[in-house]
Amino acid sequence: MSQYDYDLFVIGAGSGGVRAARFSAGYGAKVAIAEERFFGGTCVNIGCVPKKLMVYASHFSEDFEDAAGYGWSVGERSFDWATLIANKDREIARLNGIYERLLQNAGVEVFEARATILDPHSVEVGGRKVTAEHILVATGGKPVRAREPGCQHSIVSDDVFYLDRLPERILIAGGGYIAVEFAGVFAGLGAETTQIYRGPLFLRGFDADVRAFLAEEMPKKGVDLVFNQIIEKIEKTSNGLAATLTSGEVREVDQVLYAIGRQPNTMDLGLDRAGVTLNGAGAVKVDEHYRSSVPSILAIGDVTDRIQLTPVALAEGMAVARTLFNDEPTTVDYHDVPSAVFSQPPIASVGLTEEAARARHGAVDIYRSSFKPMKHTLSGRDEKTLMKLIVEREGRRVVGAHMVGLDAAEIVQGLAIAIKAGATKEHFDRTIGIHPTAAEEFVTMREPLPEPEDSQAAVRAAE
Ligand code: NDP
Repeated sequence: MSQYDYDLFVIGAGSGGVRAARFSAGYGAKVAIAEERFFGGTCVNIGCVPKKLMVYASHFSEDFEDAAGYGWSVGERSFDWATLIANKDREIARLNGIYERLLQNAGVEVFEARATILDPHSVEVGGRKVTAEHILVATGGKPVRAREPGCQHSIVSDDVFYLDRLPERILIAGGGYIAVEFAGVFAGLGAETTQIYRGPLFLRGFDADVRAFLAEEMPKKGVDLVFNQIIEKIEKTSNGLAATLTSGEVREVDQVLYAIGRQPNTMDLGLDRAGVTLNGAGAVKVDEHYRSSVPSILAIGDVTDRIQLTPVALAEGMAVARTLFNDEPTTVDYHDVPSAVFSQPPIASVGLTEEAARARHGAVDIYRSSFKPMKHTLSGRDEKTLMKLIVEREGRRVVGAHMVGLDAAEIVQGLAIAIKAGATKEHFDRTIGIHPTAAEEFVTMREPLPEPEDSQAAVRAAE
């Protein structure tokens, strides 16, 4: 008989927490989970899922236009924001229910309340003190709020999903995943959209060709990209908001959306009381088995501020369950984690950027192709696709694959398996393409780009 009420107490029923709770219970552990807000966490409620639904919604404006080249006449079109939000809410409520049932069916005790840590083995939840051998912190993160004067008039990504109406004019600050994704969504839905980024080119950390390519494509879809600027202040006017940029220019808009990063949810959780060490960004510091500085307290997912992706949190949740309750110490392999940005057109990448590959491997061969996708030969749309493979010259291994274009995420998921398996360029060359697709280009690129005169220039520029 254990001296504790539970073998595992999970704080936060997001992607990682639910996965760890369910699988731990499946291995026979006595598990409880606390959730103060919504089942499924950021991804299901105010992240990946509703965002992707909005991306689909916003793409129809182009699809209707593109249909004309194929002989279709599409009648009068109108878009109703309230319908989209209501349908989205219904779908999210369905998913919340699925998450809750998954937990109940796995035998996990669910507390719909905030939990705080009292000491290394006890938690306060819903006015009760309970004890656990292990406590897992899976509380995720939240958007960073701006500090500029007038920023109380701005919104963050959490708010977008509950806006009463579609803004007619929106200014989006930031140059990461969230900013480019929402720029595409709002432009597609018909809003006059400006994205402002503080540096010379957005999506820092992505391959330089990918960044430059997207910066050429987005304006074609109506997004006004403003680089090397930030918002100095925001003022309320009779007609909306006036955002003054560092250039002195004033933009009149209806909403200002800040997407300038996310921060871990570690405040007021009792972590300091229990002696848990945080890093400079306020994230829980963990070892390779997700143990914090207090061995009975573990943490996974965005609260550790490493790779902020749902599938990574899921893998970490699995790893914790296996390590603690299946006698199978497991660490997630963080190499070659593929990811996508659901910009328009979308980006997907796996492995190293050209700059990182040159820095790590020295000699690399670059295969790059850009072309008009077949769909747009008849639609007439001026949209291009970019594909790029990075091959380390000595072993011929493909160490990076990048794409900007229709279906990029669907295509790169498959390539990620090949890259994970250590495929060489010759494996790609021997693979027969599927015709006619865009994806076949990845197995038919034969000629590397000429070696740049100064191959390390890109590396230095990226540093
Ligand atoms: P990111 O960290 O990706 O990007 C933050 C952006 O804001 C950067 O461009 C950064 O500029 C800029 N920035 C930071 N501080 C300021 C400031 N004070 N003023 C102006 N600009 C600033 O954050 P996001 O919020 O876009 O997304 C957070 C994370 O969520 C992502 O990294 C990703 O892991 C995850 N995510 C994944 C998605 C997916 O898989 N499709 C979708 C959405 C989010 P600089 O580069 O110069 O520092």
